[in-house]
Amino acid sequence: MIKHQGGCHCGQVKFRTDYDPLLVTQCHCQRCRRLSGTMTFYTIFGDDEVLFERKMGQYDFLGGSGMPMRLFFCQQCSTKLYYAADVFEGFKLIVTGSFDNSSDFEPQAEVFTNNKMSWLRDNGCIQHRFPEAGLYDRLQIMIDNLEKRSA
Ligand SMILES: [Zn+2]
Ligand SMILES: [Zn+2]
Repeated sequence: MIKHQGGCHCGQVKFRTDYDPLLVTQCHCQRCRRLSGTMTFYTIFGDDEVLFERKMGQYDFLGGSGMPMRLFFCQQCSTKLYYAADVFEGFKLIVTGSFDNSSDFEPQAEVFTNNKMSWLRDNGCIQHRFPEAGLYDRLQIMIDNLEKRSA
């Protein structure tokens, strides 16, 4: 059963998933901020849990942790759909704003808070804060959420 779906601005690329995300993260790093043009929220799923209908453009770069990442975007309208990161091998980091119901996804973790905009306020949903990438901690949270999801 389809739980969440989304797509790009022009409608050429659509995606869907039968699952809930393993983790929603807000990233405050400068690389993400520049690339997205705004604040960045990733909704993390297992690689094969989200199905995309169309081939996308690809942009390779180094993430906030200095490790390689790949961004996939619509070749028609340039909407960023998802990221793949070497440090999160086996997962897709879907751009939260590309979901039809994106306001359903509250971030549970924020990373690179050492670069957070000083005027941002917390509404209480974020349980985990990391001054930098917090990779191992985030992987542990994802594993815990995976166990809860399949319980
Ligand atoms: Zn498009
Ligand atoms: Zn980032």
